[in-house]
Amino acid sequence: MVTLTNTLSGKKETFRSLQPDRVTLYACGITPYDRAHIGHARSYVSFDLLYRWLIFLGYDVTYCRNFTDIDDKLLKKAQSVLGDQMRYPEIAEKIIAQYQNEMKALNCVSPYYEPRVTDHIPLIITFIEKLIEKGHAYESDGDVYFSIDSFPEYGKLSKQRVDELCTGARVQPGEKKYDPLDFALWKKESEGTFWKSPWGWGRPGWHIECSALASYYLGDQIDIHGGGRDLLFPHHENEVAQSESLTGKPFAQFWIHNGLMRLDAEKMSKSLGNIIAIEDILKQYDPMELRFYFLQHHYHSPMEFSFSDLDGACKSYRRLCRALHDVAIGTFSKEHLEALPITARMLAFLKDDLNSAGLLGVVFENLDTLKENQALASAVKQIVHNILGLRLQIVPEKEQAITPEIQKLIDEREAARAQKDWARADAIRDQLTQMGYEVRDRK
Ligand SMILES: [Zn+2]
Repeated sequence: MVTLTNTLSGKKETFRSLQPDRVTLYACGITPYDRAHIGHARSYVSFDLLYRWLIFLGYDVTYCRNFTDIDDKLLKKAQSVLGDQMRYPEIAEKIIAQYQNEMKALNCVSPYYEPRVTDHIPLIITFIEKLIEKGHAYESDGDVYFSIDSFPEYGKLSKQRVDELCTGARVQPGEKKYDPLDFALWKKESEGTFWKSPWGWGRPGWHIECSALASYYLGDQIDIHGGGRDLLFPHHENEVAQSESLTGKPFAQFWIHNGLMRLDAEKMSKSLGNIIAIEDILKQYDPMELRFYFLQHHYHSPMEFSFSDLDGACKSYRRLCRALHDVAIGTFSKEHLEALPITARMLAFLKDDLNSAGLLGVVFENLDTLKENQALASAVKQIVHNILGLRLQIVPEKEQAITPEIQKLIDEREAARAQKDWARADAIRDQLTQMGYEVRDRK
């Protein structure tokens, strides 16, 4: 029995695919307007773990992850950086290329489909037209909105009540929707900009894109829809409303949400300004150290990021690499791995809601035993390498790179010392220590 926590029921449920031996998996992808951060990295490592696990279980998995390459934030970025919002594809192209390199470095298997929204506008327009035909959406002065009233089950995924959501909600001046909870499927733009539709020129809203792409690539009913917990409302709730209104069938049978990455007790997000870019962290750490750090936490729990915890994870990861270094990766059958006591315990943790943290606990408890039993070590390495996706190559010890941000702190501390402001100098030293840097003053 294999279980996963399904947000729809709020419970751990036994996983069964809709079709025997086949699983369809959709994960919401990035909006390529800025570098991806380690919250994204954690999310995509979580779904990569799920993907690898399903493959190990013998499923043929079709994995689709989109790029939201048209969006307010992307247009704003193109306007501010390039002086022209219509040059947004240049920004998107650069960020997508960087993101794909980072996913490769983190050993995340590329999804079978990685569709870009801008390549699928006719598909999205057709989806919206059908929603209008069925009375679930309406046009209002060139915009199209989804009508929440037309879908009585609205709120079932995120456990929100429509009457509570309505409290205090008002249609703002200038908005063209009838009900404050209705959301945009199509946004009107001036004549000749973006795409031509039956409602005039415009561009799609965010939520409709995932509904349209998921149904096109994976079908009207999919096995697993995933994403970060921050996408649950309104994005995923709206996807459910759109897809189920159109087909009359349940959209995803499992909704899997990874817990958020927090920094200083707040969600890591661009809008809060407290993000750590994957690029910056990979200047100081090996990608496999970062992946190991994520896998030490259960995918479903929130995770508080700290450099000292990451450093601790690096030490453990190096220990693991040394222990399994001279061992060949096993090619045992699933049945064989389930018959050996230690690997059976490791797999039991994965069967129980993908508990990678528990699995690693079993490995570390048994490191001494593995030294004496090459065949067992080889079986353990097979699971850690193939399912957890850890490459297990010994990471060379390296000096940490000094980023411009760190250099600025060092300079500020030097200035404070020159002015004999010891309190300030000590405060900066503490800050640098927290960030994983050791400060040694020359005598
Ligand atoms: Zn989505």
